[in-house]
Amino acid sequence: MILPNYINGQWCTSIATEYLDVLNPATAEILAKVPLSPASEVNQATEAAAEAFVSWRRTPPTERVQYLFKLKYLLEENLEDLARTITTECGKTLAESKGEMQRAIENVEVACGIPMMMQGTNLEDIARGIDEMMIRQPLGVAAVIAPFNFPGMIPFWFMPYALACGNTYIVKPSEKVPLTMQKIFQLLEKTGLPKGVINLVNGAKEAVDAILDHPKIRAISFVGSTPVAKYIYGRAAANGKRVQCQGGAKNPLIVLPDADLEMTTRIAADSAFGCAGQRCLAASIAVTVGQARHTFTEAMTETAKKRVVGNGLDQGVEMGPVITTQSKARIEDLIQKGSDEGATVLVDGRNSKISGYENGNFVRPTILQNVDPAGEIARTEIFGPVLSLIHLETIEQAIALVNSGQYGNMACLFTTSGAAARKFRYEAEAGNIGINIGVAAPMAFFPFSGWKESFFGDLHGQSNHAVEFFTQTKVVVERWPKDWSRQF
Ligand code: NAD
Repeated sequence: MILPNYINGQWCTSIATEYLDVLNPATAEILAKVPLSPASEVNQATEAAAEAFVSWRRTPPTERVQYLFKLKYLLEENLEDLARTITTECGKTLAESKGEMQRAIENVEVACGIPMMMQGTNLEDIARGIDEMMIRQPLGVAAVIAPFNFPGMIPFWFMPYALACGNTYIVKPSEKVPLTMQKIFQLLEKTGLPKGVINLVNGAKEAVDAILDHPKIRAISFVGSTPVAKYIYGRAAANGKRVQCQGGAKNPLIVLPDADLEMTTRIAADSAFGCAGQRCLAASIAVTVGQARHTFTEAMTETAKKRVVGNGLDQGVEMGPVITTQSKARIEDLIQKGSDEGATVLVDGRNSKISGYENGNFVRPTILQNVDPAGEIARTEIFGPVLSLIHLETIEQAIALVNSGQYGNMACLFTTSGAAARKFRYEAEAGNIGINIGVAAPMAFFPFSGWKESFFGDLHGQSNHAVEFFTQTKVVVERWPKDWSRQF
């Protein structure tokens, strides 16, 4: 089946001449073919969105959010089906996919508060008889370019806010996982949103470049790897657009000797191996401080070995495959690289075969010990179920290691000491901090932060940051002389 685009309220067959197979990463079964849409289809979507903007921006915010209320209920009614689709094309477990869609719904709920969140400010009598106010207005057409690892959730960090603020929108899903957005757009269609308000264009580089260059697209949200984030940020900004680009990560998790071992191990394992390590908030390095070294290493080793790996649709499975065969090969090469750099492969997840799923892209949980903090394996985003252990003597050394990395997406600390927690929260250079939390994903009413090479821009996705990103402020100064009112 060739997947259609959704442009101007119509499902349309792409005129693309190139297609990619969409594969189930657990089975290698071909699920669909995704068109690599040409620039002309981005242009059509943009023209449709620009035309729809004229009346959408005049639709009162209270009316605009009614479509989002409908969407929330439709997403909830179809949660099981959406979760199965995510698992089938992306590989994560069904529970993880359901959690992902809950996060998407949460963003719809927050965006339903736009009539409050979009309010401006005003001050009467800034001088006698003169009032000043700041109002927020939508920008026009905006777009999101999404990664493969959260096909349902990530567009929702942006799209509900963009629509609620009065913008019209284009979604470009990852070409690796385009099926979830097909289903979500079927639901968006059911909400009765006016044609052109929301559009879906499948594709890869050509479609992305057309988005970056189209003069009528005013704002772009990107989530993906750092090299692409930099490229998108540079090209879109040079074209005068508002841009926010979330990039890659290399998240450290610090374990102090006073940490609750049972809880820490459970949470750290979920952080490192959940979603097969393909979360931008996955722990990739665990730094043990002092005596934590032996206890934590032993407990993690046991936990990693016990993790049940398989098809995410099967009951009892705790970890699914990685996204592609290329990804599996890259992860396995990096494990070898770590070993070449002197690390001990304590638990080796390479060359995994899962009975019944011999063609799947499985890498089992892997633990590398005595990883060189300056080596490639401690610095490179692996994006697979690999945890590198580094041992240090003090919390100061651990924080220095955290702050020496190029990324700044997330850093976590496990401790029972309030003073240590405060020090870490204060000093760690990362946009999302977890204290006894392994995946410090902000709820929808907080911005999804990110520092250093994990983020390019200033306003983040979700919450009031999204409202600011999708609106422009206008300041009005008004003079109404008193005597003009005499005529009434
Ligand atoms: P990716 O950068 O390969 O692709 C992301 C998007 O960019 C896709 O839609 C793709 O079509 C497009 N793209 C890829 N190469 C391009 C190019 N040369 N020119 C124009 N467009 C291009 O990322 P991915 O592999 O899909 O996702 C994994 C990455 O995303 C990881 O690095 C992960 O850390 C990151 N990520 C970050 C966050 C965050 O919040 N910081 C969240 C999720 C994922």
